[in-house]
Amino acid sequence: MKKITIAIDGFSSTGKSTLAKQLAKHLGYVYVDTGAMYRAVALFAMQKGYISSSSFDKQALINDIPNIKLHFEFNADLGFAEMFLNDVNVEKEIRTIEVSSFVSKVAEVSEVRAKLVEQQKEMGKNKAIVMDGRDIGTVVFPDAELKIFMTASAETRAQRRFDELQAKGDNVSYEDVLKNVQERDYIDTHRDDSPLVIADDAIEIDNSYLSREEQFAAVLELVEEITKTL
Ligand code: C5P
Repeated sequence: MKKITIAIDGFSSTGKSTLAKQLAKHLGYVYVDTGAMYRAVALFAMQKGYISSSSFDKQALINDIPNIKLHFEFNADLGFAEMFLNDVNVEKEIRTIEVSSFVSKVAEVSEVRAKLVEQQKEMGKNKAIVMDGRDIGTVVFPDAELKIFMTASAETRAQRRFDELQAKGDNVSYEDVLKNVQERDYIDTHRDDSPLVIADDAIEIDNSYLSREEQFAAVLELVEEITKTL
């Protein structure tokens, strides 16, 4: 079967990564979670003291961009690639609510986006890739053969993220998670550089009432249809 590029965009906690991982595993493709890359840069900015709840020194972060090295390493036990920031595994640290609360501000910085987009394009140059994020079908791979845009209500998404955080022992309230989801939706859709928009040729999937299996089956059918015509 011919290899294609699959771009999955959408709001936070719409299950993009679940679908992307399922597809990559089934098709033998590489999966890249671009949100993890923006989260790692946010963690870097926090560690360096460039961002806090009261301030954000954008210029200091921009000056330090050459010192940010990101790479993924596949973990066979987990079945996906973990995020490394300057050779340190940060997969767990980047998933906290603190990082979630800063990441969209960091992702607004054009210089950060330029660096990450360049790296993402490079990772996809041989196709056979499933990449998820906010600007994959519009900016990173505008020529992707399959573009999916995932949505679900903010409440459904907050409940999913809240359940995940609780399962990990993170003591947060549902209200705080919902507020974070809504804030990130707002920033992601209103920023000047590469805002979250639906690509003209993307297929929209609202999965508020779809099971993982139903969603996976529907998208797999699309992949098969497309590869047949190539
Ligand atoms: O996908 P995830 O929720 O982990 O992404 C975290 C944040 O990173 C998003 O809210 C968004 O601000 C930013 N992001 C982005 N572009 C991408 C992926 C993520 O701006 N391609």
